[in-house]
Amino acid sequence: MNDATTLVINAGSSSLKYACFQGNGLAEKETARGQIDRIGHTDMKLVHRGLRGSVERSLAPRQGYTDAFAAMLEILTDPEVGPIRSRDKIQAVGHRVVHGGDTFTRPTRIDAHVLAEIQRLGALAPLHNPVSAQAIEQSLLAFPGVPQVAVFDTAFHQTLPPEAFLYGLPYEYYREHKIRRYGFHGTSHQHVSIRSSDFLKKPIEDLAIISCHLGNGSSVCAIEGGRSIDTSMGFTPTEGLLMGTRCGDIDPAVLPFLMRSQGMDADTLDKLLTRQGGLLGLSGLTEDMRELEAAARAGHEQAATAIGVFCRRVRKYVGAYLALLGRADVIVFTAGIGQGSALVRARTLAGLEGLGIVIDEKRNAEARGFEEVCVISSERSPVTVLVVPTHEEQMIARLTLTSDLENMDGRDSDGIAGPCGLA
Ligand code: ADP
Repeated sequence: MNDATTLVINAGSSSLKYACFQGNGLAEKETARGQIDRIGHTDMKLVHRGLRGSVERSLAPRQGYTDAFAAMLEILTDPEVGPIRSRDKIQAVGHRVVHGGDTFTRPTRIDAHVLAEIQRLGALAPLHNPVSAQAIEQSLLAFPGVPQVAVFDTAFHQTLPPEAFLYGLPYEYYREHKIRRYGFHGTSHQHVSIRSSDFLKKPIEDLAIISCHLGNGSSVCAIEGGRSIDTSMGFTPTEGLLMGTRCGDIDPAVLPFLMRSQGMDADTLDKLLTRQGGLLGLSGLTEDMRELEAAARAGHEQAATAIGVFCRRVRKYVGAYLALLGRADVIVFTAGIGQGSALVRARTLAGLEGLGIVIDEKRNAEARGFEEVCVISSERSPVTVLVVPTHEEQMIARLTLTSDLENMDGRDSDGIAGPCGLA
């Protein structure tokens, strides 16, 4: 039996998620996943689910990332539930890293230079890159000599043309301060576009795809021949769609207005835009779409309005990307809301028959989007509409294995500037 395992690590601002995949082909078999939540708080907790069993345990309070990492290592080799017998079964580690700036255009084998660059890019993603760097440092100590690869949320969007990534600011703000649109959720958009192409048995090079990743964070991406040509998130993940607590697109002049009229400072504005806005702010109730749908059904007007704003925003981006691509062969819905909400899917694409998009009500209502790829367009719809479960960890595991092989063989794939993808 080949029990070589690829470990995927996703370090968030107060959580550490991990997943294990067995095999060295396409990392098909997930053997365990888990997460440690509320790192640094009094109620720190580990939840582990795996083929050999599941456990939930409270951890000593107020510990930091180092302790969370140690707890993960312990559970991975736990004699009862651990997915591996010993640490030397780990053949590669893939790290999700939020921001690769315009330095990283593909998954990249980590060395001291790459780690330093990820730390430097913390200026662009202060809540994310520093914790990823910390997890990478610990992982390099825990798995010496094992190939470790950084997979960036932004890398898939490095194919955006300047027309898509430039803001209407004086050019030196881009040149000197790197203020431009980067885009996020790249691993998910790439994953669902590849799955759509496999499912339809059509080469990805021939497809124009609009991918709607609708979760707590949400973004839409226009994908032409497998390459991202535009996406709704920008310099930060706050731009674009309405999200759980992020406001998405807003007239930028609102900010100086609030600074002058309410005396708000940068931190207060940041909180307003990223944690107090979105579905939560508009509904005054919750950021959770399932709860909002229930509230709207029970007659809560603001909940219904928030859902309406959410769907309209997605619809506007779908329309914009249809125009950019010139056509769409496939529209994909993914992530919690995209996979789970028939209501959001139906409202987003209702009445678009004139654009070749015809939803089949029954298929949409019956789609089991968390389990399998489902077609929700009708037979007579020129555009195929799919619900595709996203599986970012598996994609990271695959990218880790393929990227590792490329680097070990000394081969470079297309679009790569310099060793290890460093431009
Ligand atoms: P994250 O971006 O944190 O990974 P998810 O992709 O899990 O988030 O999406 C979470 C969102 O998906 C929540 O708003 C949740 O209510 C929503 N969601 C999950 N299942 C359903 C469902 N069956 N119907 C409607 N919304 C759902």
